[in-house]
Amino acid sequence: MALVSRRETILGAAAVAALGLSGRVVLAQAASDTKMGHFSYKIGDIDIIGVHDGYWQMPLSPGFIGNAELEDVNAALEAGGHPRDIVPINFAETVVKTGGRTILVDAGTGGQLAPTAGNMRQNLEAAGIAPSSIDTILISHFHPDHIFGLMGKEGNAQAFPDAEIMVPETELAFWTDPATRSNTPEDRRGLLDRIQATLGSWENVTPFAAGAELAPGLVAKAAFGHTPGHTAFVVSSGSDKLVIAGDIANVPALFVANPGWHAAFDMDKEMAEAARRALFDEVVADGALIAGSHFGFPHDGTLSKDDEGYRFEPMAG
Ligand SMILES: [Zn+2]
Repeated sequence: MALVSRRETILGAAAVAALGLSGRVVLAQAASDTKMGHFSYKIGDIDIIGVHDGYWQMPLSPGFIGNAELEDVNAALEAGGHPRDIVPINFAETVVKTGGRTILVDAGTGGQLAPTAGNMRQNLEAAGIAPSSIDTILISHFHPDHIFGLMGKEGNAQAFPDAEIMVPETELAFWTDPATRSNTPEDRRGLLDRIQATLGSWENVTPFAAGAELAPGLVAKAAFGHTPGHTAFVVSSGSDKLVIAGDIANVPALFVANPGWHAAFDMDKEMAEAARRALFDEVVADGALIAGSHFGFPHDGTLSKDDEGYRFEPMAG
C-alpha cells in the first residue's frame, strides 16, 4: 500500500477571525487529488471535522438543468473557474463532536459510484477518527452518494454496525412506502430494494422528526424538495452557528449563484428552490457558516448575497 503524503496548512489567527471562527483551523490535503484529506475547526465548543470522499466529473448534458440554456450553464462554470462541459461534483462529509458523541453526517459513496470517490474512511482515519469510534450517523436524505457508505457493495453488510443511524422520518416513510414502489418503473427499483433491505430493516436505525434536537447543539431542520424528506442540520454553540445543508444546492458556481436553476437531481424542483432560498437567506441573516455536500473541498465556508443569487466563499482552497 502506498503511503499518502499530506500537506497541512494552518490558517493564521487573522484569517480565522475573518471567517468568524474560533480556535485552530487545520487544513490537510493529500497529494493525490482523489484523496484531498480533511480539515477541522470549532463552532463554539463543538469540534467540526470535514472529510473528503472524492469527486465525480459528470459530463454536462442539455437536460441537467431544465430551466437554463446550455451556454448559460457553461458560462457559469467558467465564471466559477471550472472547465466547460463538465460538472465537478465533490463528495464531502462532516463530523460533529458534541456532548461526548462523535457524529458523522452522511456516509459518502462507499466507493460504489465513481472510481474517483470512496475515500471517506481513509480520510476519517487521517483526521484521527477511527470509523469504529463513530457512535451516531445522521443521514440528510437517501440518495446513493449519502447512504452507500453505510453498506457493503455485495450483500449490504453494515459498514458502521455499532453506530446508531438516525434518519428523517419523512424520508424513511417515502422510500419504504409501497406506493413509491408501485409508482417507480420496475427497472428503476434497485435503489428502493436496497433501501428496504438496509435502512428499512436494520435495527440500529432511528427515525427523527424535523425540528428535533438530536444532540447537544444540533437540531434537524426540514429542507424538503431535493427529496421528500431532505433535511439540514444546524449546529450552534455560543454565538457560532453552522448549517450542514446537505444537497440544498449542488455545485456552487451553478446553483448558489443561480438558486432558481433546477437540477435534475431535485425531485420536487419548485419545493427545492423555495427551501434553497429560505435556507440561504437564513444563513446570510445569521452570519452562519454553511457546509454543502457538493460545495467542493473544503465544503464549509461563508455565504453572501450576490446580484440575483448568492456567493459561497470556502474556508480555503
Ligand atoms: Zn448528494
